[in-house]
Amino acid sequence: MTYTPAENRYEKMTYRRCGKSGLKLPAVSLGLWHNFGHDTPHDTKQAICRTAFDHGITHFDLANNYGPPPGSAEHAFGSILKEDFQNHRDELIISSKAGYHMWEGPYGEWGSRKYMIASCDQSLKRMGLDYVDIFYSHRFDPETPLEETMGALDYIVRSGRALYAGISSYNTERTKEAVAILNDLGTPCVIHQPSYNMLNRWVEKDGLKDTLQDLGVGSIAFTPLAQGMLTKKYLGGIPEDSRAAQGKSLATSMLTDHALGNIRKLNEIAEGRGQTLAQMAIAWVLRGGGITTALIGASKPSQVVDCAGAVGNLEFTADELAEIDKYADDEAINLWAKSSET
Ligand code: NAP
Repeated sequence: MTYTPAENRYEKMTYRRCGKSGLKLPAVSLGLWHNFGHDTPHDTKQAICRTAFDHGITHFDLANNYGPPPGSAEHAFGSILKEDFQNHRDELIISSKAGYHMWEGPYGEWGSRKYMIASCDQSLKRMGLDYVDIFYSHRFDPETPLEETMGALDYIVRSGRALYAGISSYNTERTKEAVAILNDLGTPCVIHQPSYNMLNRWVEKDGLKDTLQDLGVGSIAFTPLAQGMLTKKYLGGIPEDSRAAQGKSLATSMLTDHALGNIRKLNEIAEGRGQTLAQMAIAWVLRGGGITTALIGASKPSQVVDCAGAVGNLEFTADELAEIDKYADDEAINLWAKSSET
């Protein structure tokens, strides 16, 4: 079956400028961390991507290690690109990253020039692309000079493998250093990808959110739904087809009574706004314009539709924000804290 994208797709989405760059990103972006490996049927992956594009989601986020097994998400996305999006490459922003373990031996992870460039080449091959739009250093490497990691990003951009450079989970101090090095090299840091949601507010405490705005660097908040916790799905138990039930990155121990009590209250606030909790969680990370785009994941097309609908109401009253603050309490769910502590 040939895919024809929805004609009115650009009317459904809001596009926001990524920092001070020329790049605009959809308010909601789609990540392929889970649900794009060998554990998910191809038809489901294809339907998720088609639905996203039909709703104006032009940005697809990947990394070398997404799967399982690592690399399989890029491979699957490459097939979908070939089948469905060949004529739409210039309408898409595709990103990938290198930083976590990808292959055996001393050159298969972290931030050396050797690893970063080899990994980028592997990602391009898996996706069947000449270039990605954004390439990230996935995590700060405490043992490699930052100049080397940023130099690799600069080379990746200059050699045409990527159009823009980004960093992920770097804290404020490391971000300032990375941005300065990239500016000196003439390849600006266009985007930062931190975790951020109502139950994980480290970017506020660390000062990263304000720093990025001061520096004019755009931002893409990953896990805006706290891996699904910020939806109604866990309020009546753990559904069999959920991420928590599947023993993936959302451990059932994260679903504490404290967290669930707050999520229930947040759900009531969302209902009062005429939104689903997922939609309010997305609108909340985007509030005030500090974050460029919310990077969601989805296991089914209907979730993409629900999340894309967040753009229907991105505004909050001061009273609503104050009420949300009562329940938007940090839970111990930041799996990436270690990367931003170094
Ligand atoms: P998320 O949006 O917080 O959680 C996605 C999960 O929430 C889905 O798999 C689904 O869970 C559930 N969900 C989504 N929409 C829903 C809806 N409308 N109603 C009910 N449930 C809904 O984000 P994430 O998948 O954890 O991460 C998103 C992306 O961020 C990743 O794909 C990746 O691109 C990026 N990321 C980056 C890093 C990094 O280090 N840079 C780390 C992690 C993630 P079920 O599967 O249970 O249905």
